[in-house]
Amino acid sequence: MQEAPINDEAGNGSLYTIQPIPGKGRDLIAISNIPKGTRILSELPLFRISPTESNRAEGPDDTKQRALLDLQNVYGIGDGPFLGIARSNVMPLGPEAPEGGLFLDAARFNHSCRPNGQKTWNANIGRPTVHAVQITISYLDIAMEYAERQTFMKRHFGFDCGCSLCSAPYPQRLKSDHRIQTVAQLERCLVFYFSDFNTTDYAGGLIFAFTMFKKLKAEGACDARFPGVYHTAFKMAVKNGDTTRAKIFAERAYAARVLVEGDDSPEAVRLAQFVQRPTLHPLYQPSADATEARLPREMSESKFEAWLWKQRPDPSEDGDSDEFASEFESEDEYDDDP
Ligand SMILES: [Zn+2]
Repeated sequence: MQEAPINDEAGNGSLYTIQPIPGKGRDLIAISNIPKGTRILSELPLFRISPTESNRAEGPDDTKQRALLDLQNVYGIGDGPFLGIARSNVMPLGPEAPEGGLFLDAARFNHSCRPNGQKTWNANIGRPTVHAVQITISYLDIAMEYAERQTFMKRHFGFDCGCSLCSAPYPQRLKSDHRIQTVAQLERCLVFYFSDFNTTDYAGGLIFAFTMFKKLKAEGACDARFPGVYHTAFKMAVKNGDTTRAKIFAERAYAARVLVEGDDSPEAVRLAQFVQRPTLHPLYQPSADATEARLPREMSESKFEAWLWKQRPDPSEDGDSDEFASEFESEDEYDDDP
């Protein structure tokens, strides 16, 4: 039997339904092909909990109470069913927020280590949002390797993750682990890039960002890590006074952020101003020689990407590669398993 969504405040109730799944409790099921970037959830909490007080202004009605008791409880009923359910399902209201909330529908989303939806706390509207293609999100805040993920999921959510990534054949999983390792290493390098001690040049920094971009693309990532890399490249461009590339990276970061969080997300709103005026960014410094990069015209897509990221184009992608030195290392990870 299908049930109508409990919480239809987003006005998108027709996009999914809550259905019993044999042996798996109840899950959110997409009932239509959801276009990429669609906001499928924006939900008010049933109640909020802060370290000092819990706010449950009015007790939930019978339907909501049944829905609450129906949620996963990985802590058992030793302290009463409500406490176990709350501990299993309360989500923080923002990264590292001390306050949490229980969201009846958001709690139903399945986890995948290769999510195709993005869950975000949107401080502008005071609700979590989920933007999706199909309905899986990641319960993890950071990317972890297979073994680490399995341990984490078992400890915190009480199940062995069997998502498409975790159940992929060993060689594919190994490749994925290597990409996740590389991205994590590059992230650490990038923190250094924006420190006062950095001596890495502009093109050197963009190599980090571009490598990350390629690894994430090969990993099939379509979550908030993607706009994050464009944002990083944007910051490198403004730091080096390259407003031409900065504008392009800001446009891409904005478009990618809107896709996963919506144009009302604080990050999207912040990026929108830099699309118009990249020089507003606090990291902006005029370039040393005060010249602006000229936007190339009539260039193939691969050459344009190479220009944008200050890389040598992939000689395999078009015929006239003679002008490029052979030191270019072909990165074939694009063609990896998705
Ligand atoms: Zn998994």
